[in-house]
Amino acid sequence: NHQILLASRPTGEPGTDNFKLVETAVPDAAALADGQVLVRNHYLSLDPYMRGRMNDGKSYAQPQPLNEVMIGGTVGEVVASRSANFKVGDKVVGMGGWQEFQLVDASQRGVLQKVDTTHVPLSAYLGAVGMPGVTGWYGLVKIIDPKAGETVVVSAASGAVGGAVGQLAKARGARAVGIAGGADKCRYVVEELGFDACIDYKQHRDVKSLSAALKADCPNGIDGYFENVGGMILDAVMLRANAFSRVAMCGMIAGYNGEPIPLSAPQLILVNRMKIEGFIVSEHMEVWPEALKELGTLVATGKLKYRESVADGLAAAPEAFLGLLKGRNFGKQLVKLI
Ligand code: NDP
Repeated sequence: NHQILLASRPTGEPGTDNFKLVETAVPDAAALADGQVLVRNHYLSLDPYMRGRMNDGKSYAQPQPLNEVMIGGTVGEVVASRSANFKVGDKVVGMGGWQEFQLVDASQRGVLQKVDTTHVPLSAYLGAVGMPGVTGWYGLVKIIDPKAGETVVVSAASGAVGGAVGQLAKARGARAVGIAGGADKCRYVVEELGFDACIDYKQHRDVKSLSAALKADCPNGIDGYFENVGGMILDAVMLRANAFSRVAMCGMIAGYNGEPIPLSAPQLILVNRMKIEGFIVSEHMEVWPEALKELGTLVATGKLKYRESVADGLAAAPEAFLGLLKGRNFGKQLVKLI
């Protein structure tokens, strides 16, 4: 059973040396205790929140302990079971961590969920029909709550969360404008995901220039902003925000390595009577069933599109994770395990 442990804590940008690949015995299927399930993980999800867990500071989440298997969402298949709720062959989603096999105490409620792969591919339960999809759904539906005809802007628009946000906004009759890094990502956001426009922020050196581009693509101003990045992008959006606009503060990836992300004109919050609300999706379990139902139906019927970047094998996970923090991923970043 290959596993990746957190070997040391980074200061600033992490490196592959912060991780350690080890091999341990696969748990013995014949020796399961009552209620235990052995899962073979097929895909590991890599997510920006993992960067925060590598730190030892106070945050909303506990730090990842050193020399233990890195935390992470996984999808896989039950290969042995002594639980009445799971049988061999069941496809499941859980928090299996950066490893190939996982022993789960299935008597604890919610640690493992069975999923139906008839119309939705297994890997999608880590993306559009999983935590990132619900994240997009929560910020859009519960915080931004767009009315038909309003304009919603989303940053990191080609990513797992951002891609869902714009498509859900369109489905509610809003105008969706993305912000993403590079021409390829922007083309994909408009042509494949159906956004009305997408701005390549890398073509804009300062707030003034980016805000002029936003003005061109959002002629009626911005009513809702789904924030994934922070910094210059937020400043530019603030300059185009309408009165009573809503901002869902989902992520600030531009600051995850400790970079300062100042807000240049906070007075605009008052002037525009803006509502700015941060949220953590795992603290809103009450919306997950409703959100997953909508997301699952949209994916199954081909109405919600997504893209995946798949790294091959557990050993490739650290490099893929570092790439995710630099925008080298294109869509949901996964690792294909076994
Ligand atoms: P993505 O698939 O969007 O991948 C991350 C993307 O962020 C990169 O592809 C890159 O896109 C962009 N990016 C990285 N660094 C920078 C930078 N310095 N400046 C601008 N853009 C950058 O990841 P997810 O969809 O999984 O996550 C999106 C956001 O949502 C993250 O901020 C994450 O932390 C947050 N999140 C929050 C949750 C919550 O509960 N609040 C839950 C889940 C996610 P590009 O090439 O376009 O720049």
